[in-house]
Amino acid sequence: METLADRIAACRACPRLVEWRERCAREKRRAFAGEEYWGRPVPGWGDPAARVVLIGLAPAAHGANRTGRMFTGDRSGDFLYRAMHEVGLASVPASRHRHDGLALTGAWVTAAVRCAPPANRPTPEERDRCLPWLTEELELLPEARVLVCLGGFAWAAVLRHLAAAVSSLPRPRPAFGHGAVFTAGRYTVIGCFHPSQQNTFTGRLTTEMMVAILSQAVDLGLAHPPL
Ligand code: SF4
Repeated sequence: METLADRIAACRACPRLVEWRERCAREKRRAFAGEEYWGRPVPGWGDPAARVVLIGLAPAAHGANRTGRMFTGDRSGDFLYRAMHEVGLASVPASRHRHDGLALTGAWVTAAVRCAPPANRPTPEERDRCLPWLTEELELLPEARVLVCLGGFAWAAVLRHLAAAVSSLPRPRPAFGHGAVFTAGRYTVIGCFHPSQQNTFTGRLTTEMMVAILSQAVDLGLAHPPL
């Protein structure tokens, strides 16, 4: 996994995203002017024996693109790790920087696209170009049984991954929704609204809703026998 993380962090396959992630890292947000930004693709992280894998959209320009760890250093991450802590997947309810001591148990946190995109919107071509990194990561997580897709973009990426990786994908293809569930191969896939401020500030996604999805994921992950 460390070798994979190094390979991901060196990727420059998407010119538009390389330019954006590096520009954000150079120009910085005023509040972080004294910090050195990561400014590279962000690998997934967590427990290599994870049963539950959480898949987001992409690093935030001044969140994970700054700190170098998924969902770390922004409000979305605060919301997510607080909920993960409530169900026992995260050691503390906060995620500040990549050496803050936070540890994940039974969980892996990653994203469909590894570079911060302008306006948080990668193109379908960028999603597909980045997908092999998710495929490789999942191959290195042999205990993973539950994929929690944080938003429709991650859902679409996971469907594309599964279409190539398993023979039993449901037809028609399952539509994304908060609480949508289907099984494919060794995985149960669960949809969850993305913990973006657009969703959490408006009440579209509450802490209770997020905790309920994560509790379901933990129960399903533990229920699956090892292969
Ligand atoms: Fe590479 Fe993915 Fe970043 Fe594109 S988005 S440059 S494929 S890591």
